[in-house]
Amino acid sequence: MPKVTELGVTRDEVSDYLAKGKGTPLQRRIAELRLELSDIGTLRSNFVESLQGKQRIYPTILPTQASGRWSYIRPALSGFPKKCINPECPKGHHEKTYDCYDLSDCLVPDPNTFWIEHDLDAVEHFIFALRLHWKRRLDALKTGIDIHTPVTCNIFKLPMPTNFINPHASIEDEQWRRHVKWQGKNDTRRTMSKNFTYGQGQYCYVRVARKKEFVRKPYRVYRDIVYTPTVVYLIPNINSYLIANTETGELERPNYEQLAINFMETPEQGDIQRKKAEIMEQCRKDKVSRTLYGGPRYGWMSNQKTAKELFNHIIQGTVASYIDESAVLLDREFKRSYCAHNKHDSLKWAFFYQSTTKEGRLLEEQQVLERVKQITQRPLEYEGESIGITATYKIIRREI
Ligand SMILES: [Zn+2]
Repeated sequence: MPKVTELGVTRDEVSDYLAKGKGTPLQRRIAELRLELSDIGTLRSNFVESLQGKQRIYPTILPTQASGRWSYIRPALSGFPKKCINPECPKGHHEKTYDCYDLSDCLVPDPNTFWIEHDLDAVEHFIFALRLHWKRRLDALKTGIDIHTPVTCNIFKLPMPTNFINPHASIEDEQWRRHVKWQGKNDTRRTMSKNFTYGQGQYCYVRVARKKEFVRKPYRVYRDIVYTPTVVYLIPNINSYLIANTETGELERPNYEQLAINFMETPEQGDIQRKKAEIMEQCRKDKVSRTLYGGPRYGWMSNQKTAKELFNHIIQGTVASYIDESAVLLDREFKRSYCAHNKHDSLKWAFFYQSTTKEGRLLEEQQVLERVKQITQRPLEYEGESIGITATYKIIRREI
């Protein structure tokens, strides 16, 4: 299959053409189909063909990434797209149902084994809050307060609900939900706020301003912190986020940059970004940073890129070490078990069934799961503070 580049135009150019609304409806449709064809080609050559005719795969594992994460080649196991490919499903992003399946579903456990997969819940944010001694956020995370709804109200200038544990269903907030036309957990405004919290809030570059420093666009100074609200455009598919007008109900494209400003320019975020700026500056000067486990990463230059990368390492590297530690502990606890896939903040572990009956196997799965939960949800400690890491679990079986 020819790649888009062989036709003299790159993927980005076609995407850009579509994003800018160029061409006639027919030309646009052709451009869309061309992108789809190129997506299918990539899926086929990178993933489907790597499995063709194979009963079992033996990927090469490279635990050599700077963050300590593992990568896989032949095939690129961690790259298998999570996107639903069921042709019966609606096109594009949709709520996951039992009918959904993706390419990784063709990877199944060996006969007489089952896998337990677990994904750590918002672990990067937990580590961020822990490293910055963000007391209020740590308390919120511990008590199970929904951190994203108040942030959403701040960014979109909405009134606050009264129940912060479950504003999506609480009786006392019915009026509030109707007033702001709340769509529940998947409210687009809330999804955008999550993006701000996990993206811009954690990883964008900030620095302390010099005395009476004057900055030009796209930079802004809030209190004494210099930042760029235009990093909002790094959020994937940001242009697809449309917000319903609370009066007319019509979908509108918000001013993304203004939202980024609303996110950053609150007293609480100001304090946090100030602390982040200090740590980033330390990273830049020292040209080394360490995970909460002590694992170092070195930088070459003393610049903004180093500051960002080394700060990132503190978080990502800690996640990688936490998962690696889980793998070691699982290996010790279950003698006859093995790693099926170590993927950043999730782990698939394979266990052998002892029993041969269906009832026996189901019981065994539950017993193993309980033990796995105890092992993999350990509190993470840092400078006298501690936070419980939680995960979401799934049992994957071949047949029973
Ligand atoms: Zn689907």
